[in-house]
Amino acid sequence: MKRRQFLKGAGAAAVAAGAMTSTTAQAAPEFKWKMVTTWPKNFPGLGTGANYLAKLINEMSGGRIKVKVYGAKELVGALEIFDAVSRGTAEMGHGAAYYWKGKSRAAQFFAAVPFGLTAQEMNSWLYHGGGMELWEEIYAEFGLVPGAAGNTGVQMGGWFNKEINNVADLEGLKMRIPGLGGEVLKRAGGTPVLLPGGEIFPSLQSGAIDATEWVGPYNDLAFGLHKAAKYYYYPGWHEPGTTLECFVNKEALEALPKDLQVIVRNAIRVANQDMLADFTAKNNRALEQLVTQHKVELRKYPDEVLEKLKALSDEVVAEEAAKDPKTKKVFESFVQFRDQAVKWHGVSEQAYLNARTLS
Ligand code: CA
Repeated sequence: MKRRQFLKGAGAAAVAAGAMTSTTAQAAPEFKWKMVTTWPKNFPGLGTGANYLAKLINEMSGGRIKVKVYGAKELVGALEIFDAVSRGTAEMGHGAAYYWKGKSRAAQFFAAVPFGLTAQEMNSWLYHGGGMELWEEIYAEFGLVPGAAGNTGVQMGGWFNKEINNVADLEGLKMRIPGLGGEVLKRAGGTPVLLPGGEIFPSLQSGAIDATEWVGPYNDLAFGLHKAAKYYYYPGWHEPGTTLECFVNKEALEALPKDLQVIVRNAIRVANQDMLADFTAKNNRALEQLVTQHKVELRKYPDEVLEKLKALSDEVVAEEAAKDPKTKKVFESFVQFRDQAVKWHGVSEQAYLNARTLS
């Protein structure tokens, strides 16, 4: 008798579940959203990460929200997405916060800081160390709700046609390196050059620039940078865990029913984790290919060079933070978190990674 009742109950539950599935599958989207991005359409890792996020929102909402992704220049230019979402031309934007330095200097701390936080540490600071609240406060002025939507992990130091054996080797070096890292190179005697992704390879090949950084093995291999430079330096001290972002127009988000708001926020969180996993897996394979197949010379920056770059980075970042009170507030939270992470990760991640390579 008990068994029959159980089966009857299970059957009813299955029917109910089936009914729910078919209802949601048939529903027309209640919200049609646009996502504008700073990446060329389907750009490996970053553009595909934006596509994945849109797909997640479509699926998690059972089709109630339909997000259409636009590559750079399809709807607005790459660096116009912040304004476009702020004024409501699109509901969502996918980019990196350091692009909006001109809107808010503090934004840079939510993307990448030289000698700053790794991917794992960025997520910890944002979700459980007060970072997210600060980011929300900064973007609220623009009518935007930010979210971390991906991470490249530690990037590579860059491509060179000569060895970097000491700080003097950086003098006079024309290198494509944006943002705060570029300012650090300048103080080390180099000349930072700003170039969009598409112009990097021809500039390096023609000798218009001496060196370049880009992302990591996966993206660098796709650009063919190994064909224009011999030495591949590590680590990417200037971008130790670059965080990508998805910001949402605040009014559009708040116009959604509560359950859909939770879905959007959590889809962004899932996409954040997934991009790091994607980059890690693909960088593993691409590095092997660069070294074994393309015979790239892998080089570690000498400690002397890294020490100097770190000292200059601390100087540059502190000066940047002192320029306005909002940036200072974010900087203080960031630095306090980093100091703690240096201690904890010194006896955990770092100690383990060192131990793992002992022979
Ligand atoms: Ca980079």
